[in-house]
Amino acid sequence: MKKRLFTPGPTPLPEEVIRAMMQPMVHHRWPACAHLLQQVQQGLQYVLQTHNEIMILTCSGTGAMEASVANLHRPGDRVLVAQCGKFGKRWALICQAYGLQVTPIDIPWGEALDPQLVAQRLEADPNIKAVYITLCETSTGVANDLRALCEIVRSHPALLVVDAVSGLCSEELFTDRWQVDVFVSATQKGLMCPPGISFVSLNEPAWERVSSSTLPKFYWDFQQMRKYSEENQTPYTPAITTLYGLKAALNLIHQEGLENVIRRHARLARMARAAVTALNLELFAQRPANALTAVRVPSKMDGIELLHILGDRLGTVVAGGQSQLKGKIFRLAHLGYVDELDVISAIAILEEGLRILGHKFTAGAGLQAAQHLGLEQREDDS
Ligand SMILES: *Cc1c(COP(=O)(O)O)cnc(C)c1O
Repeated sequence: MKKRLFTPGPTPLPEEVIRAMMQPMVHHRWPACAHLLQQVQQGLQYVLQTHNEIMILTCSGTGAMEASVANLHRPGDRVLVAQCGKFGKRWALICQAYGLQVTPIDIPWGEALDPQLVAQRLEADPNIKAVYITLCETSTGVANDLRALCEIVRSHPALLVVDAVSGLCSEELFTDRWQVDVFVSATQKGLMCPPGISFVSLNEPAWERVSSSTLPKFYWDFQQMRKYSEENQTPYTPAITTLYGLKAALNLIHQEGLENVIRRHARLARMARAAVTALNLELFAQRPANALTAVRVPSKMDGIELLHILGDRLGTVVAGGQSQLKGKIFRLAHLGYVDELDVISAIAILEEGLRILGHKFTAGAGLQAAQHLGLEQREDDS
């Protein structure tokens, strides 16, 4: 049975990326590897829309989150953490692990962060050193209004640190224009690569903090990384094979054009939302992201069974809910190497799963909605 992956990371790989990784090993101190790192650096600057030097790390996204915290602070620093879901909560857990004083902003899961709340908290506490937020909260399918948040944090000395692990390539994001101090992302989501590399973009105000940070670090030391980066190297062995894949993926994004990549994700998200609504299902996210669509499991349905039917019987892997949302929602990702026909196939299989479980809907209603929005709008957009 052909397996189809509709999870918000890891995501499917293009053939170009798979082929780029099938080659003999090069040594990480050879010029070939320096050249590779330089090309990846430029490609990442394009997707992040920045001139900042980007630190390339060998770890999954959480490693880059931890590295950022370890490099930006002194013990006991006060930070504001927006918790809209599991990944926002992860920022708080990392900050606590490093002995920072965390002021949480708790948002009910499924809702977006109100930028005015951040403004109020910053005004109330001028000692806050950084604001930690999540661009696309993958656990709930919510996208936060980054642009509005940037405007608020800009007028305050606090740094804005953004988890864009699933938001990169799917949501609009302009590091330099919007003055985002720190961006964190990873390879296995919108970038259509295997897991293994993550990266951090820091602007000059963020580098100033790095130079005065006294938290313990060794492998994660950004200053050390920056020194090596001047020679297009990394202090320790990078994930060379994944770097080859990443270079190929960045080429694909460049060819399609970043704007078109984001527009495609927006279109796929519209298709998915229209389809599930036509199937008498309810959307979970109040400000839905382009990367994935979170859907409430109807109260009489067993959400875990639905995932088993889709995955084991129909070969289509869709993500379930995490933590308190387990069994209550499912999450259909349309992130990375995904097009209109992929979403249509996911909806076809979802209809079949829903039929098996006795859900009431008009057969083909989801498909019709998706097809209309997908194929016709693709024509309009191009
Ligand atoms: C996937 C993801 C991460 C990182 O998870 P890893 O498994 O460590 O790569 C962080 N934040 C968000 C929003 C994510 O979607």
